[in-house]
Amino acid sequence: MFGYGGRILRVDLTTGRTWAEPMPEELARDYLGGRGVGAYLLYREVPQGTDPLSPANRLYVSAGPFSGLLVPGAGKCDVACKSPLTGGYAGASVGGMLSAEMKYAGYDTVAIQGAAAKPVYLFIDDDRVELRDATPYWGQGSLTTEQALKKALGDDFQIATIGPAGEAGVSFACISHDFGRQAGRGGVGAVMGSKKLKAIAVRGSRSIPVADLPRYRERARALYAACKASPGLEAWQRYGTAGVTTWANEIGAFPTRNFSSGYFEGHPGLSGETMRQAIVVTDKACFGCPSPCGKYSFSKKHGVHVEGPEYETTALIGGDCALGNIEDVAYANYLCDELGLDTISAGNAVAFAIECFQRGIIGTEDTGGLTLRFGDPDTVFTLLRQIAAREGIGAVLAQGVKQAAATWGKGAEAYAVQVKGMEMSGYESRNAPAMLLAYMTCDVGAHHNRAWAITYDIAVGRDAITSDKVAKVIELQHIRPLFDTLGACRLQWVELSVDLSHYAPILEAITGVPRSWQDLLHISERIWNLTRLYWLREVPGFGRAWDAPPERMWREPVASGPTAGKLVARADAERLLDMYYQQRGWDSDGRPTPAKLAELGLDRL
Ligand code: SF4
Repeated sequence: MFGYGGRILRVDLTTGRTWAEPMPEELARDYLGGRGVGAYLLYREVPQGTDPLSPANRLYVSAGPFSGLLVPGAGKCDVACKSPLTGGYAGASVGGMLSAEMKYAGYDTVAIQGAAAKPVYLFIDDDRVELRDATPYWGQGSLTTEQALKKALGDDFQIATIGPAGEAGVSFACISHDFGRQAGRGGVGAVMGSKKLKAIAVRGSRSIPVADLPRYRERARALYAACKASPGLEAWQRYGTAGVTTWANEIGAFPTRNFSSGYFEGHPGLSGETMRQAIVVTDKACFGCPSPCGKYSFSKKHGVHVEGPEYETTALIGGDCALGNIEDVAYANYLCDELGLDTISAGNAVAFAIECFQRGIIGTEDTGGLTLRFGDPDTVFTLLRQIAAREGIGAVLAQGVKQAAATWGKGAEAYAVQVKGMEMSGYESRNAPAMLLAYMTCDVGAHHNRAWAITYDIAVGRDAITSDKVAKVIELQHIRPLFDTLGACRLQWVELSVDLSHYAPILEAITGVPRSWQDLLHISERIWNLTRLYWLREVPGFGRAWDAPPERMWREPVASGPTAGKLVARADAERLLDMYYQQRGWDSDGRPTPAKLAELGLDRL
């Protein structure tokens, strides 16, 4: 099959058996790869009602047809499983080199089932596949383990690993790769830990077959030339995602003190410029990327190297916990990376705990005597360590803010900023209804990566509640995850304004299958509806109520800053949902109609 490794690697950790199966052509045709293949296999193979941390859950690590080829950022890898954080679909994307190396070893997907009796790591060297003893690495941090495995196996192995948080089953534990890239959201690291799988090490030496080599070369040249010619390249490379920080603060979208505000008075200490001057050592790129947004940094204050902080980390650990020193944020970032915590959920959990403490919902009897304060680095560092170890109050927070609020009661739910059990990422949305709708309807929980709609709110009027905003959210929900399906980075389109018209022709040159951009969006819509069906199947009573905005977004006006006094009224949020369901072809409870399922070929699943 042109453009594919051509095989699925099956790994049964319970029996220790590994085997390769051909990648079914109809699976590649209907779901392309990456996110699509992961979501499909999860739906078909993991039994209804599976406990996410049981051996019956499966972990699908998937490359796409672009992975490993000359397409900008073609190292994106999708990790799918049933989420221990939400109980629904988890699909997390990680950059770096992993999916490229998997393809060079001849695998489009590594499908992991069962659970080992003792810690192991998965060793893949082309056709040589082994489960090796990982006892010496168990308990070690992600960065430490990656370094140790590279030393033991060779620098040309690509490593994905979990840290102590994944081993301990923290509901928002991540999988780390390439010293600072993460499959961050939804607790994929906890699922890996529940299987006693410490790491995956992969090296490959095969070629990826391409259908039309001259045309592929020509298309690749055009795509890279478009990136290089972009006026946005210089700033993007200089600051990376940290360049968003000042802008987000100026528009009142920077999460501050557990989303009580969208404006942080300490933002100058966190800006992209401050970060560049104070801690950045060098730029860092994923596979085949002409626009390296990764920043490798060193904190003199804390004596640690870290990749980042990315904007999301600065938002949730900086603004949301009110830390105004980029060196402290960098150290918290390092702790999360080494311990194996998703920085977005972890920052939320810490900020939530601080607010609950300040409001008297919890006290020193809950914190082991600690006084929790916004703006206090030691509060943040201590809570992160306790969460990863599930110690003291960390054991409560390790379940995520929704469960923690249910544990504490006393009105704590009002301060748990989450949708579907997933903590909200870095955009305060009470003056951005399209962005709020994107969070409400995202298919993993309150995550921005499926539809970053806030720029559209700003372009067409921030207060407006209109059907074209709803249409934009749906359009983005098909375009952005399509990149995770194809196995390439979307940021050349988002940040460098590279035209989307490049992508269908190069995919055709690679695979030999003629498909228009509209055909690709149709597949992306199929995948979106499939993940909806997964939620409906797995979560008892799932429906409209699960798409509700976080209570804080509709009940409590923004406390300060340029959006002070703003909120999205609950009735307006419901109006957005009505329009969204109608435009999607879903019923009023958010269920895809039989006609929509038939249109997408999902009626015979
Ligand atoms: S733009 Fe950034 S995230 Fe995307 S491929 Fe390049 S380095 Fe990786």
